Amino acid sequence: MSDDSAVAITVLSKTVWSPTLFSFTTTRPEGFRFEAGQFVRLGMAASELAANADQPKPAITARIFRAYSVASSPYDEVLEFFSVVVPDGAFTSQLQHLQVGDKLYLNPTPFGFLTLSRYQEPVPKTLWLLATGTGLAPFLSILQDLYVWEKYQDIVLVYSARTTQELAYQEKINNLADEFGSLVENAACFHYLPIVTREKVAGCLSERIPKLIDDDELTKATGVALDDTAHVMLCGNPQMVEDTKEALKAQGLTMNRRGVGNIAVENYW
Ligand code: NAP
Repeated sequence: MSDDSAVAITVLSKTVWSPTLFSFTTTRPEGFRFEAGQFVRLGMAASELAANADQPKPAITARIFRAYSVASSPYDEVLEFFSVVVPDGAFTSQLQHLQVGDKLYLNPTPFGFLTLSRYQEPVPKTLWLLATGTGLAPFLSILQDLYVWEKYQDIVLVYSARTTQELAYQEKINNLADEFGSLVENAACFHYLPIVTREKVAGCLSERIPKLIDDDELTKATGVALDDTAHVMLCGNPQMVEDTKEALKAQGLTMNRRGVGNIAVENYW
């Protein structure tokens, strides 16, 4: 579906996590469906983008679009998105000034295969979700879907940020098991491993994810095996995704193809 079919959505709330990270919720158009882990295309009117620039507004309002993973659950009444401010980025440098009540556009065709349905059943015991930065977003959606709590025995979320301030959504992550796991019988055991790479933080790992895999530190920290029986999803910095794929392959894990294999990936840039 082209972006011409985009529908208007309204900003309902905004959270600023750090000078370069923010999230926001919007209205959800009636009938809009997506699977946890998918992304959509969000648009802004180009006339608004030009509003602060030294040029006249275009007579016909064009829109520019960018891909965003949905951070909210498929069952939420609202949609939520998590964004970084890209330096000199035409889209996010304006998007960061969003206010409650502002209008955005949603292309109602969801994209992407970082979804649990890509894996053939029966699923293994363990699901690893490895994120850097705003790559956390699709995993927040997946972790708010009861399916994941029912299907796996252990779920490990690994979330790497440069500083403690850039570790967003900590309260929400720490409440996930209570809020969602408690709703199903024999819910998965949830393990959360925050990583801060540019500050020393007591009780927090500080190396990059591929190194932690090479050194078996993720398993030592959680007691959960990261082996060729596990499902592993990666999302975030494209170089992290590449380096982590290689680290996992060195441990005998394989890319998931046609439902078979361990690793599923999405670059979040
Ligand atoms: P980031 O640089 O991706 O860092 C987030 C975490 O990922 C940090 O812990 C970082 O560790 C780690 N990391 C980076 N490269 C890695 C690798 N190869 N392997 C393993 N871990 C790795 O931070 P960010 O805040 O999300 O983004 C940083 C910059 O990227 C921003 O300036 C932003 O503008 C840009 N960006 C652009 C887009 C886009 O759409 N164009 C999207 C997201 C971000 P270290 O501290 O060791 O680096």
